[in-house]
Amino acid sequence: MRPDSKWDRVGELKIRARLPSVEEIELELAEGSRASDLKSLVCGRLGIEPEATEILGPRGALAEGDSLEGLDSVVVDYLWARQMMLWGREGQSRIRNLRVVVAGAGAIGNELAKNLAMLGVGEQVIIDYDRVEESNLNRAIFFREEDIGRNKAEALAERLKEAFPLTRTLAINDRLEAIPLGIFLNSDAILSGLDNAISRIYLSQISRKYLIPLIDGGIIGSQVRVQTYIPPDSPCPACALPPGNYKDLAGLRNPCAPAGEEAKIPSLPTSASLAASIQAQELVKIALGYEEFLGSGSWPKAHGKPLEGVLIVDLDHNRYSVMDLKRNERCLVCGKGGLAEKVARRLKIALKGLKGIWDLEAALKSELDAEELIRLETLPSSAWGSLDPIEHLRSGGKALAIFKNRAGDYEEAVIESEWRDGIHAKLS
Ligand SMILES: [Zn+2]
Repeated sequence: MRPDSKWDRVGELKIRARLPSVEEIELELAEGSRASDLKSLVCGRLGIEPEATEILGPRGALAEGDSLEGLDSVVVDYLWARQMMLWGREGQSRIRNLRVVVAGAGAIGNELAKNLAMLGVGEQVIIDYDRVEESNLNRAIFFREEDIGRNKAEALAERLKEAFPLTRTLAINDRLEAIPLGIFLNSDAILSGLDNAISRIYLSQISRKYLIPLIDGGIIGSQVRVQTYIPPDSPCPACALPPGNYKDLAGLRNPCAPAGEEAKIPSLPTSASLAASIQAQELVKIALGYEEFLGSGSWPKAHGKPLEGVLIVDLDHNRYSVMDLKRNERCLVCGKGGLAEKVARRLKIALKGLKGIWDLEAALKSELDAEELIRLETLPSSAWGSLDPIEHLRSGGKALAIFKNRAGDYEEAVIESEWRDGIHAKLS
């Protein structure tokens, strides 16, 4: 911010800044201001990051110390300007504010991480237990020869960071089942490229119970399968599995399991990138329309609607079809008596005026109409959040409340602040 006295000078500079096809703003700067002043003013007004922005004058990009003398209009060139032509500043800021889990750092995971970073997704938590092998390199864009033997999640997160410094990443080298719940609860969506039944069942369970959209993708050779699960009411990825043979399914390949347990399946770079491309675009629709969907029960027309059913692509025979899928009453995840039959409630709470934990607990009890509040967990992960629940919620974290309802049954509720105070900046 410039000292006020500078603004009092006569002969202020008036400059029009245009983000083509998105927005045009008018700015006033003190005489003697430099290009760096203009840039910070433009970025502040448009809510865009200076490190992803160039200001273009009549002779190209302005350098920081350039004089603004004689300049009356500039063009703002922002890293994500072309896609903002589709969904505006508001849409892009929703995408920038996303935190997503990428489950599996194999062929699909690499492509997902790349697409999400290019779209501008702010934070990716990448989970995989496996190690990079020579035969992964033909279809995993980020892995290099020297990564062989390294954990896939760690190698991917590090390479991604090098290529896309505006993406925050967190790598977790562990089995999915061992990941702290806070990692999932503090995410807006889960994208999986695991292609094995057990992990899909586990993620479907988390997704349904805690109402986190799941975009599942898989390939076998030249065949691609993508399913978008919007919990709790759409058919979950486990609905398509034959009921009653969980034990048989448990014998299938699990890429999150230690090396050696993995059976090899045929895999192509082309089908992996196609699956991940569709999955990433599904995430965009969720980012742009989910709030409205939650409020009104329908997706805003402007940005499309997530996939219903299961998309199956057979690249050998040029078949592109959406297979209809209905909720399976006997589904072992979302069916009657299923692992996640009961769904947590979801509550956005106003934090204004709450002075401490007692106020928060009283507000929750009243909002949930609870007989008794049993526990409130802030669920910070190693990367996020403060242990003070109000601070944690205020900074965009989620919490889990376990309470007894008026009928005497125990329930869970996912709590978040009515207003997110901005994207977390605590990841590496
Ligand atoms: Zn189901």
